[in-house]
Amino acid sequence: MALIVQKFGGTSVGSTEKIKAVARRVLGYQQQGNQMVIVLSAMSGETDRLTDFAQDIQKIPNRREMDMLLSTGEQVTIALFAMAVKEAGSDAVSLLGDQVAIRTDDMHTKARIKSIDTAEIKKNLDAGKIVTIAGFQGVTEKGDITTLGRGGSDTTAVALAAALKADACEIFTDVEGVYTTDPNICVKARKIDCISYDEMLELASLGAKVLDIRSVGLAKRYRVPLHVRSTFTENEGTWVIEEDKIMESMLVSGVTYNKNEARITIKHVPDQPGIAAKIFLPISDAGILVDMIIQNTSDSHLTDMTFTVMRSDYARAMEILKNVAREIGAKSVHGDQDIAKISIVGVGMRNHSGIASTMFQILANEGINMEMVSTSEIKVSCVVAEKYTELAVRALHDAFVLDKENMPIEEEF
Ligand code: ADP
Ligand code: ASP
Ligand code: MG
Repeated sequence: MALIVQKFGGTSVGSTEKIKAVARRVLGYQQQGNQMVIVLSAMSGETDRLTDFAQDIQKIPNRREMDMLLSTGEQVTIALFAMAVKEAGSDAVSLLGDQVAIRTDDMHTKARIKSIDTAEIKKNLDAGKIVTIAGFQGVTEKGDITTLGRGGSDTTAVALAAALKADACEIFTDVEGVYTTDPNICVKARKIDCISYDEMLELASLGAKVLDIRSVGLAKRYRVPLHVRSTFTENEGTWVIEEDKIMESMLVSGVTYNKNEARITIKHVPDQPGIAAKIFLPISDAGILVDMIIQNTSDSHLTDMTFTVMRSDYARAMEILKNVAREIGAKSVHGDQDIAKISIVGVGMRNHSGIASTMFQILANEGINMEMVSTSEIKVSCVVAEKYTELAVRALHDAFVLDKENMPIEEEF
């Protein structure tokens, strides 16, 4: 008998009809002799709707109350799902994060899981029930409800699979798996059969929202094999597994885009030791994450410093930096929110040079100006004007021939 954790995302449970269909599918797996733990998201659009309510009332909503509010979306779907299972003639029990208990720290709206008690789940599984658990939520030591950050139901599912030592963790969504790029913006995107945790971590961190990055990190750490697949077909999806289990590694395995960042430039910064710290300390003290950073070389003891932050932090960052600029005697602060970060990812890049220059050439051929660049062992990212996002993604996807399984390039055995 296998123990399987399955997570169904918002579009998969977006109506009562869809919830009934999910219940029928899960019952089928149970009838094959499996113990089933089902993590559900809120209905699609619900978490956004609740967020809008909060913002109508408080510009920067109280974070404890925000969690109280946002966690309700998942309560609705698990209750309806349990009813659907019962209506179909089997038995299910729905459990909230605190009933499980999924313990987290107290960083409201972006809490991290500290431990999971599996006793209640196991008791119900042993009684023959399907156990359905609210995704995205947990509870603090004090008993306050928390949420794990947007997209966090994936993380709930993987954490449960790790804690229960499940045989598999399946993430059901509205596409057939992990693709070479977002299939909703590039028709030539190709489904990847197997991808390593590290590549998936890069893809997720660079904008492929098909998996929440924290879920991939947990899966890697606890060696949980992940299967990303469609709610609406029976097809095999994508397996996220250890790199050494993958026979062929590709030069470039995916193209991603991220439209959630904004660029800030401070002009004519004195080029001397300690200035970067003066700029970035107040930003990090405000809990603002900085992504790409560029500092130009200078001949005149003055330089320009450019970096990116999340768009949601842009207004606060600009305010802080205008003060900093005055203090350090910089000339001015400029910002641009209409940018996108386009990235190519592939473990094969480790052993190959020339990938970045190929990327630059492809963008140049399309007349797309690169505003910033950053590289790591297995990725190259470029910031471009947001209006070029789709063009850039499709051009790179075409040029690296990602619609075909490209040649394996690793030669070591
Ligand atoms: P769910 O509600 O099921 O959690 P999400 O909307 O969070 O679903 O994630 C699925 C979406 O991720 C897809 O509809 C697709 O538009 C987007 N996506 C972005 N990049 C990729 C990619 N490389 N492969 C697959 N889907 C991707
Ligand atoms: N409902 C939450 C969200 O929309 C969590 C999730 O769906 O993963 O972000
Ligand atoms: Mg998601």
